[in-house]
Amino acid sequence: MILAVTMNPSVDISYHVDPFKLDDVNRVEHVSKTAGGKGLNVARVIVQMGENVLATGVLGGTIGEYIIQELNKNSIPNTFLKIEKESRNCIAILHGGKQTEILETGPALSEDEGKACLDKYEELLSSISLVTISGSLPKGLPADFYCNMVEISNRRGIRVILDTSGEALKQVLQQGEKPFAIKPNTAELSQMLGMDVNNDSNSIQQALKQDIFQGIEWIIVSMGSEGAIVRHQADYYRITIPKLDVINPVGSGDATVAGFAVALTRDNPPETLLKTAMTTGMLNAMESGTGSINMEKFDHYFDLVKVEKI
Ligand code: ADP
Repeated sequence: MILAVTMNPSVDISYHVDPFKLDDVNRVEHVSKTAGGKGLNVARVIVQMGENVLATGVLGGTIGEYIIQELNKNSIPNTFLKIEKESRNCIAILHGGKQTEILETGPALSEDEGKACLDKYEELLSSISLVTISGSLPKGLPADFYCNMVEISNRRGIRVILDTSGEALKQVLQQGEKPFAIKPNTAELSQMLGMDVNNDSNSIQQALKQDIFQGIEWIIVSMGSEGAIVRHQADYYRITIPKLDVINPVGSGDATVAGFAVALTRDNPPETLLKTAMTTGMLNAMESGTGSINMEKFDHYFDLVKVEKI
């Protein structure tokens, strides 16, 4: 079973308001409310691929209860650490082809809650073959919190795919215990390294030479419609994908992580791993729902992905 961790989930609310009036009353007829958070998208895609997953992380209050109801409705097995403070809402206002977002930062966790979270994580690992950790850390936890999770998993020989950014990613890469795989995009790499990394294999290879990337088995640098550049141990791959009619690419990175995780648990060879990860990313981009894929299209798009060693 795959464990999909989301430390700061949300209820994602989207309001269609046209026109959107500032400093005035806006009445909303079309409201959508879904369980949000990168790890929840990962879990959703894994379920659609027919593999066992358990969603975990931290939830609180009535918003937390709503997230659990939504996951249950979608048959996503879950077990969260419950806290008293409310989980967050993230609001997207869709108006005139634009999107204005209002994102709550979410509850601040105490040191004890952080410790309880690690204890729960360690307990869960007894029935887990692979872990995905996605998204930002909640307030209150130290920036090196994910280092603890990686260390606990490595001690038990359980592989971790880490998909986070900024300081949380940097802290993990700077310590001795490395995750099995990471999936930054070029913007995240640039931000973390404080240098320009663009969608170009030379630029990416140059960036990945830095010492902090030593010891990570797989680094998938995803590039949206341009596919990905991947480092596997000392080998580099360029992955090219077909042009798509994109409907909503939000969550494609999470779908990529899910596809990669599923292929790893199936012990697929490198080329199949990479083609699966790209295909699930593409399938997500072709659906309107975040973390939603149509598996009937899988084989067709899988065959269109090209993997070449560079
Ligand atoms: P993130 O959401 O983390 O920024 P990307 O946007 O790089 O991740 O998307 C991950 C993968 O999803 C890509 O490598 C690609 O396979 C697929 N994908 C994303 N956006 C598109 C797009 N516009 N067209 C085709 N495929 C896409």
